[in-house]
Amino acid sequence: MTLSRRTFLAAASAALVVPRIALAQPGAGRVVIIGGGFGGASAARFARDHFPALDVTLIERSRTFTTCPYGNLVLAGRRTIESITFGYDRLAARGVRVLNQSVTAVDPAAKRVRLADGTEVPYDRLVMSPGIDLRWGAIEGYDEAASARMPHGWSPSLQPITLLRRQLEEMPDGGTFVMAIPDNPFRCPPGPYERISMVAEYLKRAKPRSKLIALDAKNGFSKQPLFQDAWEELYPGIVEWRGASSDGRVMRVHPATMEVETEFGEKLKGDVVNVIPPQMAARIARDAGLVNQSGWCPVKPATFESAQVDGIWVLGDATIAAPMPKSGFAASSHAKHAIACIAASLAGRAPPPATLFNTCYSHVGPDYGISIVGVYRPGPTSLVEVEGSGGISPRNATMTPERRQQHRQLEALYADGWYASITNEMFG
Ligand SMILES: Cc1cc2nc3c(=O)[nH]c(=O)nc-3n(C[C@H](O)[C@H](O)[C@H](O)COP(=O)(O)OP(=O)(O)OC[C@H]3O[C@@H](n4cnc5c(N)ncnc54)[C@H](O)[C@@H]3O)c2cc1C
Repeated sequence: MTLSRRTFLAAASAALVVPRIALAQPGAGRVVIIGGGFGGASAARFARDHFPALDVTLIERSRTFTTCPYGNLVLAGRRTIESITFGYDRLAARGVRVLNQSVTAVDPAAKRVRLADGTEVPYDRLVMSPGIDLRWGAIEGYDEAASARMPHGWSPSLQPITLLRRQLEEMPDGGTFVMAIPDNPFRCPPGPYERISMVAEYLKRAKPRSKLIALDAKNGFSKQPLFQDAWEELYPGIVEWRGASSDGRVMRVHPATMEVETEFGEKLKGDVVNVIPPQMAARIARDAGLVNQSGWCPVKPATFESAQVDGIWVLGDATIAAPMPKSGFAASSHAKHAIACIAASLAGRAPPPATLFNTCYSHVGPDYGISIVGVYRPGPTSLVEVEGSGGISPRNATMTPERRQQHRQLEALYADGWYASITNEMFG
């Protein structure tokens, strides 16, 4: 990436000057953030904007970040991959020291992280938002090699959604798109169902004789009645969803024949097979001793400090933060609260009270959006949803056709507004 002279000077002066000014101030300290996705980039920006005494370093292995949100719209052909890909130069220009490196080890005793090039970076407080890894082999036969034929498209840093899009474009009209969906917990609970909708939108438009079969390892899912209403209304005859009790759980895959095999032994062949495998916290979180036997990171619900390793705050999908979903919105909310707690701890103050927010929008068709909202506070051992705070879009049957159209249209607009504002907050 080329930096303009102005941007370069701004980044360079920030890197050299900010630490010296910052460390002279009360509450100053070196905050190192691992992972420049929804949690990490939000944390860096929030720390820089609101706590000038903090010296902020963001370590991210990639030079650009492609968001998972709106990836399903790339599948539908509504967005380009470029329109959902962002760089870190604006964050650098704001005074965040951005290191495009992979973190290979964390030493909590010495308060240092090691980078792939051997450099060690010291910290006073460490924030980790490294996201997820896929559990290769959890579905028999589904390993990294298999994912080249049966793409997951679930973690853009591992595999761009463009591979799945290309396969969809090459699929014959009258073909079958098979999807395997995991049990909870996994990244973005409504994501697979938005994907069903966006693939169905494309099939209806471009390959109307085709079919989508979604095989699910569970019996219920986020915003289920709303999604199912929409599939019936918009994509009749295209979408078939099967839950676990209707033999929806995929146990093994056969990439050579493009078949998936269910719990009760049925084999289904797809022209395109999209496997979303079970997941766990990303490797650096596991290596740093932050996960428990579940493969995810327990955190103290009042602060998001690790429940297992002092001095490390964990954010986003890697955490056990249920009932908050694993979403980009949630990761950004964790980030702001964790940074406020870190600033308080460096200044010798008690952590501020926590109120965390989430909204998950889903696009279901053209001008057709739905959402689910929640507000959360810490309970004694986990977060709890504030009674009466949550909400979900109304079902079709509760509205007149005119009101319904207006409502769905507005929610699609709100979704676009949310995406523009959160990505601007992270990378703008
Ligand atoms: C199809 C799909 C649609 C979605 N839609 C929505 C939506 O509409 N709304 C919503 O709120 N959420 C949505 N999500 C969920 C959202 O993408 C995640 O919840 C969010 O990305 C979690 O943020 P994070 O910071 O935990 O992880 P990420 O955003 O994945 O960031 C992790 C970063 O850490 C970096 N990293 C990992 N290990 C290292 C290391 N060792 N060294 C350096 N860097 C490292 C990675 O490269 C990555 O950039 C969707 C997800 C999917 C798959």
